Amino acid sequence: MYKIMLHLAALLFPCFMHSFSFQDFDSYQDKISKEEIEDKLKYLVKAKEAQNYFLLTDDAFIIYASLEDKQKGQEEYRLIFGSAGILQAPKKSLANCKIAIDPGHFGGGYSHLEQRFVEICHDKNIITFNEGNLTFLTALYLKELLEKEGAEVFLTRTKKAEGALSQNFFQFLQTHPDLWSTQKTLTQLFRGVYNGVDLYARAEKINTFKPDVTVIIHYNAHDSEGEKYTSTTDKNYNMVFIPGSFGEGELKEKKARYEFLRLLVTSDFSLSKQFSKIVLKKFNEHLQIPSVTPSDGARYLETASIEVEKGVYARNLALTRLIHGPLCYGESLVQNNLEEALRLSHLNTEIQGHPCSSRLKEVALAYFKAIQEFFVQQEEI
Ligand SMILES: [Zn+2]
Repeated sequence: MYKIMLHLAALLFPCFMHSFSFQDFDSYQDKISKEEIEDKLKYLVKAKEAQNYFLLTDDAFIIYASLEDKQKGQEEYRLIFGSAGILQAPKKSLANCKIAIDPGHFGGGYSHLEQRFVEICHDKNIITFNEGNLTFLTALYLKELLEKEGAEVFLTRTKKAEGALSQNFFQFLQTHPDLWSTQKTLTQLFRGVYNGVDLYARAEKINTFKPDVTVIIHYNAHDSEGEKYTSTTDKNYNMVFIPGSFGEGELKEKKARYEFLRLLVTSDFSLSKQFSKIVLKKFNEHLQIPSVTPSDGARYLETASIEVEKGVYARNLALTRLIHGPLCYGESLVQNNLEEALRLSHLNTEIQGHPCSSRLKEVALAYFKAIQEFFVQQEEI
């Protein structure tokens, strides 16, 4: 899916693929040690096939555009090792930092097209809400908390039922009539095309803002596919994702190899790990829900992710790969856990005029406390 997305993004929105060059990493020459790179590769490489694109020697890390190039010794970029550790970013306090927030999905009228909604039949009532609205309101409240502390905050979308692209889904379809003849359903076009292009736009906007830290807000679901209504589960857990875990075919594109090298040479991976660990701890404390465990049976944790520590996973999602700087991709709570669904659908408060559950404020507060702690730790280093 990712390869199609990259292709489509390049095709439909060439402006997103602004020039990038491996020479951006020249300033890291003769600085980073082999041990540092080796240690990170454990979390960055999921598929054996990824090794077709690089080589670790005693004194250098070399990137190749293909296996054929590797066999011919035709290098794309060579990083010479040094002895210093990774350079840390300058220290900042929360009061003068920039924070980007991506409220996951679209919500509103798009929640069925994007298949991110909950409809549970319970006690002759229908419990109904959607993830895109939950993430949006959580982001609004988190923005409010951060701005009170003097931080500058950027949101990738500013309304319910909206993404980061200026064209909504139907305007997008009108300007891409080639997509109509593909015999795909609207949901397939939304999920398979529009959503992918929108993710690139979100990453592009965040990278232009140059944040000190980014949070990507999601609420989880567990085996939620039911025939008419959403299935419920007794599972409820939190997890967080950081960059890494490149799978089969995921280093084929030059842009992907660029991000792979960026993660190896900059402090983005280590700081994302440090930050995301704190976010998970705050989720568990503030929401009173534990970290996910392997016995919970979330399959993608095994197939597409690498465990960094309990509840913290490296995973090569579009946004964990494309966004530069420290980030946490949070997946708090299981929306189709019946008890949780009852809490999330209980409209007992409001955020900027939108009626909602106080549970969203608890989630926002967990992110807020984590950001606070992360900046305190940064100052102490
Ligand atoms: Zn989500």
